[in-house]
Amino acid sequence: MPEQYDTTPACAERLDAEDPLAHMRDEFVMPVGPNGEAEVYLVGNSLGLQPRAVRTYIEAELDKWGRLGVKGHTEADREPTFPWESYEESLNHQMAAVVGAEPEEVVVMNGLTVNLHLLMTTFYRPTQERFKVLIEEHAFPSDHFAAASQVRHHGRSAEEALVTVSPRPGEDLLNAEDLMAAIAEQGDELALVLLPGVHYYTGQVLPLADLADAAHRVGAMVGFDLAHAVGNIPLGLHDSGADFAAWCTYKYLNSGPGATAGCFVNQRHLERTDLNRFEGWWGTDKATRFQMDTVFNPIPTVEAWQLSNPPVFSMAPIRASLEVFERAGGMGPLREKSEKQIAYLDHLLDEVLAGRVESITPRPLTERGCQFSLRVTADGYAGRGVFDALEATGVACDWRHPDVIRIAPVPLYNSFADIHRFVQVLDGILS
Ligand SMILES: *Cc1c(COP(=O)(O)O)cnc(C)c1O
Repeated sequence: MPEQYDTTPACAERLDAEDPLAHMRDEFVMPVGPNGEAEVYLVGNSLGLQPRAVRTYIEAELDKWGRLGVKGHTEADREPTFPWESYEESLNHQMAAVVGAEPEEVVVMNGLTVNLHLLMTTFYRPTQERFKVLIEEHAFPSDHFAAASQVRHHGRSAEEALVTVSPRPGEDLLNAEDLMAAIAEQGDELALVLLPGVHYYTGQVLPLADLADAAHRVGAMVGFDLAHAVGNIPLGLHDSGADFAAWCTYKYLNSGPGATAGCFVNQRHLERTDLNRFEGWWGTDKATRFQMDTVFNPIPTVEAWQLSNPPVFSMAPIRASLEVFERAGGMGPLREKSEKQIAYLDHLLDEVLAGRVESITPRPLTERGCQFSLRVTADGYAGRGVFDALEATGVACDWRHPDVIRIAPVPLYNSFADIHRFVQVLDGILS
């Protein structure tokens, strides 16, 4: 039976009481708003909240450093420490579960944009005939910069080599058919397709497997930026057929500002010996790494792309955070709750704010994660002013130029009461 929603606070209370994941909220530190009360924190799409366990994991490694010095590289003397020299290994399995990949396809290293560059170094190998990169017109600036500078690095101009796809005139969302058609149209001039899993501005989910298929049909490589997808929607990255992917861990993965990023290379490329790759000592065979010879024997997993030894204090929060995901039962139960929260907020927007606020995020659940991109349409109100008023009232959300307020109810720590409160506050501002 479909869930019944109404606009009363009692409905939110009932939904929270029935929520099997409600207790997960207690695992997070809640920021305090300008009124001295816990904020209604709806900006996990930008920076996820701090899991309480993060402090324990960082302090454990700090203490170990103090106690053991260099021996900490090989020893893990107390829970929950882990030997620093193989710290990345402590993350592969849980991270792979979150993105739907095999453990050998996933590693945590560097930052997102750095990983995009390293992966393009391998998977964007333009030739005289095949040199174009297809991205979207309104790509996140860092992705645009990365693609444009790769193209220039290979001696081409962005004008000749970057192909961009826009929404149709008057529309906000990318049209998947248009993307597929553009890929087919570029044919054997197309070297690489680089697209997001979930669009940062609109919250739109793109059909990864279909896009990968379309790219492969014309002989192009395909990589996905999963910054807004990972930890938000269930992913089947391996089965999508993507050649590579990268994501950050500070948005829905709650691992803290600038935390180390994720990286995926499809299994089918892992044993290839013909790949071009930037190399560092952390990518070479672990058994011989410390013999200090100068023969590079790539680790037969995505770890071969690692350059440097892992930044433990930026990775300890990821361990803490991935365990929170595990305790919640993984992406399945989280998405189940998320879909209820999405439907509940849809209902409240329809019932309370119709005509004053519109969501540009796709309506079908298959085409969206937990983010809502809202536009204020009420006469006499400017979006930016409404955003400022929300913030002043203790609702944390974000503003994206030119006219969108992004909010994201995150199933790990947002309650149905948060959603109700948000709509109530917004209704008050617009009345
Ligand atoms: C958040 C985000 C980034 C940020 O890149 P960093 O290298 O982590 O600073 C890049 N691309 C997209 C699509 C993002 O959403």
